[in-house]
Amino acid sequence: MSTEPLLVARGVQKRFPGVHALAGVDFEVRAGEVHALMGQNGAGKSTLIKILTGVYPRDEGTITFQGRDFRPASPGEAQRQGISTIYQELSLVPTLTVAENLFLGRAPRRWWGLDWKAMRKKAEEILATFELRVDVDQPLGSMSAAVQQLVAIARAVQTEARVIIMDEPTSSLDSHETEVLLGIITRLKERGLGIVFVTHFLDQVYKVSDRITVLRNGTLVGTYEASKLSRLELVSQMLGKVPEEMEPALHPHPESQGPAVISAQGLSRRGVEPFDLTVHQGEVVGFAGLLGSGRTEAARLLFGADHAREGTINGTHLRSPRQAIDTLGMAFTPEERKADGIFPELSVRENIALVVQRKQGFIVSRARQEKLAQEFVTKLGIKTPSVEQPIRLLSGGNQQKVILARWLAYEPKLLILDEPTRGIDVGAKGEIERLIHQLSQKGLSVLFISAALEEVLRISHRIAVFRDRKKVGELSRTTLPEVMKMIAGEEQPAGAPEAEKRAAGEGKHAS
Ligand code: ADP
Ligand code: MG
Repeated sequence: MSTEPLLVARGVQKRFPGVHALAGVDFEVRAGEVHALMGQNGAGKSTLIKILTGVYPRDEGTITFQGRDFRPASPGEAQRQGISTIYQELSLVPTLTVAENLFLGRAPRRWWGLDWKAMRKKAEEILATFELRVDVDQPLGSMSAAVQQLVAIARAVQTEARVIIMDEPTSSLDSHETEVLLGIITRLKERGLGIVFVTHFLDQVYKVSDRITVLRNGTLVGTYEASKLSRLELVSQMLGKVPEEMEPALHPHPESQGPAVISAQGLSRRGVEPFDLTVHQGEVVGFAGLLGSGRTEAARLLFGADHAREGTINGTHLRSPRQAIDTLGMAFTPEERKADGIFPELSVRENIALVVQRKQGFIVSRARQEKLAQEFVTKLGIKTPSVEQPIRLLSGGNQQKVILARWLAYEPKLLILDEPTRGIDVGAKGEIERLIHQLSQKGLSVLFISAALEEVLRISHRIAVFRDRKKVGELSRTTLPEVMKMIAGEEQPAGAPEAEKRAAGEGKHAS
C-alpha cells in the first residue's frame, strides 16, 4: 500500500439546524488503500461523504485533493476532478442499455450515433475486466442489482476516478454478488485508486479494508490500521463503550419457564440467513446487534410483515401480519413511530381504539372507546389533558405509550417492540422499561429490539444476537462485554469456515 495521501480533510465542520453533524473531523484517503468509514446511525458518515463529493458545502475546515484545495460545487464537478460516488440509488438510466449507461454523458461525440459496434465491443472489454459477461445491448434495468452496481463502478473507473466512495454498496447484494464486488474493490485498490467504503457489515470491513476511521456523534473517534484494531475494539469505539465496563446482567428467568408462545424454525428471506427462535410465556427476549445486523428484518419475518422465503412459525408459513395478529396473537410496534405507528391527527382515544375495533369487526361504541382509552391513560401514566387530544401534540414518550396501549388493548400473547425508546427522554425510557417488566410478570411475552445495548440487557431475560444479517447466538445470564464480543464476532477463531462459526456462536447458548 502506498502512503501518498490523495484526499486530505482537516477540521471539517458541518451544522444543520439543531445538529452539529460534523464537529471538526479529519479524514484522509491514500492512493491504493481501502478505507472503511464506520459509525452508528447519525454518526456523520453520509454528511462527510456529501461534503467530499460536493453535495453540501462545508462550514469550516480544509480539504485538499492531490495537493490542491478542493471545493467542489456539485457532485458532477467532484466527479470531473476525480472523486466518484456510488450511492445505493444509482444515478444510471435503467431504460438505456448497459453499454449506453457505461458511456452516458461522457465524450458523447466519440460514440454518438457512430460506431455502435465499437461501443459495444469497448463496453464488453471494460466489463470483462470486472469479470462481468452480460449482453450489453440489454436495458440496464433488466439486470440484477449486482450487475447494476458493477456497471456503476465500471463507469466510475472509466471516468478517470482516483477516489471512489461507496456508501453501503453491498446492502442489496446476495453473498455471491458481494464476493464479486469485494474482489473488484481489491483490484481497484491494486490499480492505485483510493476506496472509501461505508458498510455495516463487519466481516466485509475486515476482508477488504486497510484502514478504518470511526465517527461517533459527529466527532472523529480515530483512524486505525485495520490489522491492529480488533473487532471488539471497533464495536466499542462505535458504541462509545469500554468492553470491560461491568454492567447489570439480565433479569433471571422466573422460577419455572412458561410454555412456548411462538417457535420459529428456519425463517429466512433474501439477505437474512435462516434462524430459529422460541419465545416462552412471560419471557422478554432482546434482539441485539449493530444497525443493519438483521434485527429488524428478523422481527418483520416473525410478524409476517415481510414474506419468509422459507421456514415456519408454530408449524405454519405466515402469509401476512393479519395472520400473525389473528391466529398467533402477535402485536408489533414498528421502528418509525411517525411513519407507521401513529395517526397524528387522530385523538389519543382513536389511536388506542384502532386495533380493538378491527379485531371486533364492528364499530366499537364511543362510550366503550372512551372507557378503554381512559383505562390505559391511567394504567400507563399517559400524560395528556384528555383522551380527545390529537396524538401529535403529545411528547414522544407519551405517543409511544399510546401505541403500546393500542396493542395491549388487544391482549396479545407476544408483543414485538422495535426501538420503542428511541427519541424519548430518559424518564420516559425508564417508565417504558418498567412497564415491559410488569407486563411480562403478568404473562405477556415481549420481543424487545433496541440499539442501546444496556437497555436490552436491563430488560431482557435472554438475548438473541445478530451480526451481518445472521442470528449468531443466544445469551442468558450474560454481561455487556460478552454481548459486545458476540456482536463483534470475536468468539470465533479468525478464518473459521461459516458452519463452524455458526456452531461456535450457538455454542454460547447458556442454560
Ligand atoms: P450517518 O450517515 O453516519 O448515519 P448522517 O451524516 O446522515 O449520519 O447524519 C449526521 C447527523 O446530521 C444526524 O443527526 C442527522 O440527523 C443530521 N443530518 C444529516 N443530514 C441532514 C440534513 N440535510 N438536514 C438536517 N440534519 C441532517
Ligand atoms: Mg448514512
